Amino acid sequence: MEYEAIIGLEVHVQLLTRSKMFCGCDANYQDAPPNTHVCPVCLGLPGSLPVINKRAVEYTIMTGLALNCQIAPVTKWDRKNYHYPDLPKDYQISQYDLPLTFAGHLTIDVEGRPKRIGIRRVHLEEDTGRLYHVDGRALVDYNRSGVPLIEIVSEPDIRSPEEARLYLQKLRTIVRYLGVSSGDMEAGALRVDANVSVRPVGQETFGTQVEVKNMNSFRSVKLALEYEIERQIGVLRAGGTVVRETRGWVESEGRTVSQRSKEEAHDYRYFPEPDLPPLEIMPAWVDALRRALPELPDEKAARYQREYGLSAYDAGLIVADRLVAEWYEAAVALGAKAQPPISPKTVTNWLTGEVFRLMRERGQDIQALSLSPAALVEVLGLVANGTINNNVAKHVVRDVIESGKAPTQIVEERGLRQISDEAQLAQIVAQVLDQHPDEVQAYLNGREQVAKWLMGQVMRATRSKANPQVVMALLIQHLEARRSS
Ligand SMILES: [Zn+2]
Repeated sequence: MEYEAIIGLEVHVQLLTRSKMFCGCDANYQDAPPNTHVCPVCLGLPGSLPVINKRAVEYTIMTGLALNCQIAPVTKWDRKNYHYPDLPKDYQISQYDLPLTFAGHLTIDVEGRPKRIGIRRVHLEEDTGRLYHVDGRALVDYNRSGVPLIEIVSEPDIRSPEEARLYLQKLRTIVRYLGVSSGDMEAGALRVDANVSVRPVGQETFGTQVEVKNMNSFRSVKLALEYEIERQIGVLRAGGTVVRETRGWVESEGRTVSQRSKEEAHDYRYFPEPDLPPLEIMPAWVDALRRALPELPDEKAARYQREYGLSAYDAGLIVADRLVAEWYEAAVALGAKAQPPISPKTVTNWLTGEVFRLMRERGQDIQALSLSPAALVEVLGLVANGTINNNVAKHVVRDVIESGKAPTQIVEERGLRQISDEAQLAQIVAQVLDQHPDEVQAYLNGREQVAKWLMGQVMRATRSKANPQVVMALLIQHLEARRSS
């Protein structure tokens, strides 16, 4: 029997507000000493009262709009009650039955086909503190307590670990475009829980759902889901039943382990937060936020295809990172003004080829790479006007990054100008042919691809500076001359 996986994701995203959700404490706690960003409100001291952070509400609405959600005309806050040392009030202020935004979707690209993943809701809540275990003791840091957090709940529309990865990547790209979150999973600004079940292909009803937690990177999400799907299929194939439970991913062991069963599941006893009023969301406010949204990745990709003639694939690569997209647009604009103009296609090829390779190689993003759009366009200008060839251009780009010098200066200092002088190149071609009589003979016997190899020898003799078109023309000319003699 064939099985399929049903996956729904719950993603918590920390918002980049200046202050916390319900108090004035600085929300930028990452590098602060423990328990220094705290006050009576986020420590849950008796008598303290919360005040709603307007910016956090706006960020949530913006996220909802970007995810094609509806915005609730009225929303409210609810207490989610449970006891844990990182939760000083013994309850978390969250949203239960009236989330701020709901019923949206985002589109992922699955092997070239768009697939819609439903978004059930995006609600706003507060983060908890953090526990640290040191020398057998548990220490608690409340700096994170009360930091605004949105929870984005997908419909169970995801069918594979790969689709889950695509969904998460798209989600991260969107919150980064909006500027509402760093989306940095390693820093805990984006956290993922998954609901996973399997069922025989063709069956309508869902199988028993297992919640998987503790996945701290995109890679661990993929590995945990792969493991859990296989585990559940194994249980069913062996004639067993999947138990409804929460399981934690143990990265070091590469498996999920049971954390608590349904019997131990929390009853949070939600009830409306008595210290905060419900919020009425005015349509004019939502409209203003909608107008202020930046161009989002899907719109940007469509525009690149339309305006610059990019393939969907290349456009997708470039818009995946907002900084890369901004860099690209700056380079295209400079290229259009250059003399002769540099086409968007040329900029695209260099960005997705050489520049991406250098980013991967050096483990740097586009900002850290210190190659400005102007510097690349300058290099491409040198290629376009025949000063250097494409091959040398790659070395120049590398040198710009390493030395910080201007491309033209590098070309002059290192004597990289292209050799186009026919007389000079003809001499080198004749030398190379004299040194390789066997290859010349092979060419004359009909193995024409040998010309390419000979071309490589000429380029080597000129330290790659020869004009390739001129060399090829000369080579053919000289080889054919040897045929008749
Ligand atoms: Zn506080």
